[in-house]
Amino acid sequence: MKKRIKLVQTLLKEKGDYNDKIDGLVGPKTLSGIAKLNRIESSWSIKRKINGAIQVFANDKKIPCKPIDGLWGPITQEAYDQLCEIVFEKKAPPIWRPEEVDEVNPNDWPKQYTKEFDEFYGEQGSNLTIIDLPYRHKFSWELSKSTQRLKCHEKVASSVITVLENVVKEYGLSKIRELKLDVWGGCFNIRPIRGGTKPSMHSWGIAMDYDPARNRLRWGADRAHFAKDEYKTWWEIWEEEGWISLGRSRNFDWMHVQAAKI
Ligand SMILES: [Zn+2]
Repeated sequence: MKKRIKLVQTLLKEKGDYNDKIDGLVGPKTLSGIAKLNRIESSWSIKRKINGAIQVFANDKKIPCKPIDGLWGPITQEAYDQLCEIVFEKKAPPIWRPEEVDEVNPNDWPKQYTKEFDEFYGEQGSNLTIIDLPYRHKFSWELSKSTQRLKCHEKVASSVITVLENVVKEYGLSKIRELKLDVWGGCFNIRPIRGGTKPSMHSWGIAMDYDPARNRLRWGADRAHFAKDEYKTWWEIWEEEGWISLGRSRNFDWMHVQAAKI
């Protein structure tokens, strides 16, 4: 929490709304600086206000982080990591530039950001459908809740079901729980790629995220859990259906798999 407070104090100072020490302690001056930010509710707890301030500053710096609710989830965590890099390490957020790769492709998934892609999938947020999952998916942002249905693009619907049925066959439900293959970070969501400007594949409902807390965006194979041996079959099952793991092909964003070539 102290680092979060220091980040907020630094950014308030930059803005001219805080003029005291960057000490990581919340006093009246820090609070009055935060009170000047839009969308921070006065009724929130101090912790929630700090988190909310981080969300506001992230959006100010064009790092997508919505909603501004003062609650800490994977999107806020990622925005916070990027803000820390910008503020403490004075680095600009890197923009991902995809390159060519050759993979199996039984469903003829198109290459992302091409004319063929637009023709295949249509507009962002169109042609969506609801599917029934072979096993419940826990929400990574609220693990006490889960779903057995999710919204995705109709062209990937049967492939997702095939993949997850194969996952049940290969791992079984108890192993799925143990490996957190049921911790789901989302599918359809209109938003830009993290740290970039192009739309994310999630905007078409053709990408899935799993276990984001242990497979953070910037983590490579040295830290990401999904890079471990016990997940090799998991990835092979997706790849048999032509899906692309950014972790396996690019060694980042190990949480993410998509039905588009890169
Ligand atoms: Zn993703």
